[in-house]
Amino acid sequence: MRRVEIFDTTLRDGEQSAGVNLHLHEKLEIALQLERYGVDVIEAGFPASSTGDYRAVEQIAKSVKNCTVAGLARSVQGDIDAAAEALKGAVQPRIHVFIATSPIHMEYKLRMTPDQVLDSAEAAVRHAARYVSDIEWSAEDATRSDWDFLARIIERVIAAGAKVINLPDTVGYTTPAEYAQMFRYLRERVPSLSRVKLSAHCHDDLGMAVANTLAAIEAGVDQVEGTINGIGERAGNAALEEVGVTLAIRKDVYQVQTRLDLSQTMRTSRLVSKLTGMVVPPNKAVVGVNAFAHESGIHQDGVLKNTLTYEIIRPEMIGLTSNSLVLGKHSGRHAFKEKCAELGLQLTDEEFNRLFQSFKDLTDKKKDITDDDILALAMEAFSNTSGKRYELAFLHVSFGTDAVTTATIGIRTPDGDIVQDSATGKGSVEAIYNTIDRIVKDPVTLVDYRIQSTTSGQDALAEVYVKVEYHGRTGNGRGIDNDVLSASAKAFLDAINRIGLKEQVELVSASQP
Ligand code: MN
Repeated sequence: MRRVEIFDTTLRDGEQSAGVNLHLHEKLEIALQLERYGVDVIEAGFPASSTGDYRAVEQIAKSVKNCTVAGLARSVQGDIDAAAEALKGAVQPRIHVFIATSPIHMEYKLRMTPDQVLDSAEAAVRHAARYVSDIEWSAEDATRSDWDFLARIIERVIAAGAKVINLPDTVGYTTPAEYAQMFRYLRERVPSLSRVKLSAHCHDDLGMAVANTLAAIEAGVDQVEGTINGIGERAGNAALEEVGVTLAIRKDVYQVQTRLDLSQTMRTSRLVSKLTGMVVPPNKAVVGVNAFAHESGIHQDGVLKNTLTYEIIRPEMIGLTSNSLVLGKHSGRHAFKEKCAELGLQLTDEEFNRLFQSFKDLTDKKKDITDDDILALAMEAFSNTSGKRYELAFLHVSFGTDAVTTATIGIRTPDGDIVQDSATGKGSVEAIYNTIDRIVKDPVTLVDYRIQSTTSGQDALAEVYVKVEYHGRTGNGRGIDNDVLSASAKAFLDAINRIGLKEQVELVSASQP
């Protein structure tokens, strides 16, 4: 059976989602999970865009062994040099160069003539070929490009050494039939395409990213690109977990196989959702919490008699097992260490000790500790370890239905001092945020606030996600605690810290050659 390769861009296109900014440690954790999930290629970032991206690509390249690791580069030498340098430690490095090919992008964005774009694309691939043999070339906005121009430029970049030709639907504009036709046409027009891999990359602006991806597979592409949970620019990318499960459930139609271990689907989805703060909608295909919930009486009756009446995906197939209650007050270091290994947490001794301590603290407050609780503790412990940051030292809130709500907060500043202040608000959370606002001095605006529980039960951990504006930037933050108010304060500080970290990295101007 023909094999289709899965190219994951959660850490590049997905990280471009509005408000998402991941720490190095979080990116590495996602990359290692993607490796377990069995993707073929991990696009780890865009090394020339920031030092943060550069370091992430460098670290992932060194740590991931069973996947190709790709770094993105514009068609300029500096970008390609940075990508090559960052990918040095990779077992299988790939440089991914792109240039826009649609009339509107060439004229208004690049301010280049089609001939200049042809020369520039060819020169970029030649330059990348000095470093690696695995070169992917993308025609940005391919679906709004002239097909004959695409044929000409593809011939040139293949001759220059490109091994994968990716034709993205950058703006989510195409339809399944049209996208399939484009691939068939180009295969016929460009004979040398038979020597390289063809790739599809879809966006969901019209809700067709997965459908378009599947149409491309029917048209014979060798690789498909997407992200976990479909996160990404604007409406997002094709959701890889949907593509993976569809190819398995409808093998009769698509007749292709992938290297994916589908039993890692839920775990991958949950990890990406938690670390990015991009909550999966309840009705989302495959990974939404309602995807296996049957509400109507007729459906329930059918499922009880035979699950196949209304369930086409077996929950075990995607690794959906009930949350195993395993650890508690009497669990020792050994059991906890085994659990961490089972959850895929790679910890140094020092990190393990820190995590074990927070686990022990939690068992004083909560009876049953689930896998999700441990993952939440791990994220809490390691999300915030780099750079200058504000930390919650203590929090006191006075609330009454007939009193003015007042918060008194102590915060450890990046210089190590503890600064204390208090403020009032219409409610407890507002009082907390008004106080933090006073302490950090520069104004912070709350854009979005969400709260959910990690697990079920009255003693479940609270997870708060916030989006804030600070120093002219938007950023998200996450806080986890037994108490919703502490979690709220931590999330707010986390968002401020992440924006602060982002400010430390220098952004390369987005101007094209
Ligand atoms: Mn994209």
